[in-house]
Amino acid sequence: MTAGPREMQDASAVVLDAAARRTLIETVARRIIDHADELTALDQAIGDGDHGLNMKRGFESVLADLGAHAEKPLPDALKAIGMSLVMKIGGASGPLYGTLFMAFGKELPAEPSHGDVVRAATAAIAAVKARGKSDVGQKTMLDVLVPASEAFAGGKDPAAAAESAAEATIPMKAIRGRASFLGDRSIGHMDPGARSSALIIAAIVEALEQTV
Ligand code: ADP
Ligand code: MG
Repeated sequence: MTAGPREMQDASAVVLDAAARRTLIETVARRIIDHADELTALDQAIGDGDHGLNMKRGFESVLADLGAHAEKPLPDALKAIGMSLVMKIGGASGPLYGTLFMAFGKELPAEPSHGDVVRAATAAIAAVKARGKSDVGQKTMLDVLVPASEAFAGGKDPAAAAESAAEATIPMKAIRGRASFLGDRSIGHMDPGARSSALIIAAIVEALEQTV
C-alpha cells in the first residue's frame, strides 16, 4: 500500500513488512537516544533531571531487542516495546509510556486503516490518562499526545501539531508530576515529557514517510 500518514485517509490498510517495522522502531529509539541531553536539561529545569537518562535507557533496551521486535506483527511489537519501556525507563514516565505503547498495541490490528489508528491512539491515550490520573492542560506528555492524535484524526500532520503543542506547554503551570511541586515556578519551561512525546511522533511520521 502506498499511504503515508497524511495520505491514510481512505479505508485501505497500511502494511508494514519486517524491514519497515525495523526502520520505524529504530528511528524512534535513535531519535530519543540522540536527544537525551536535551530531555535531561528540560527535566533539570522543572524536575529532577532524569528524564533524558530514563528515556535513553528505555530505548537502548528497545534497540537491543530490535531484531526480535521487528519480526513480530506490529501489535505484538508495540506490546513488547511497551513492556521494555515499563521495565527500563522507571520514574513517572516509564509506566506512562509503557501503558501508551502496550494499550496502542492491544487495540491496533496488524494492518490498520486510518480509522483503526485513530481508535487505537484514542484508547491508548485514555489508558495513559487513567494511569496518570491526568488530563490535558496539566503540562504533561498528554498536552502533546492529545493534539497530535486529533491532528492525525483530522488529516493534518501530527508531527507539526506535536511540535507546536510541546511549545505550548512552556507557559503552562504543572498540575501533575514532579514539576507540580514547583507551582508557579514551573511556568516558562517546556515539559520534558511533552518534548519526548513530540520527538517520538516526529520520528514515527518521518519513518512512515520513508517506508510506506
Ligand atoms: P519523574 O517525574 O519520576 O522524574 P521523568 O522525569 O522520567 O519521571 O518524566 C517526567 C515526565 O512525565 C513529565 O515531564 C510529564 O510529561 C510526565 N508525567 C509525570 N506525571 C504524569 C502524569 N500523572 N500524567 C501524565 N504525564 C505525567
Ligand atoms: Mg524526572
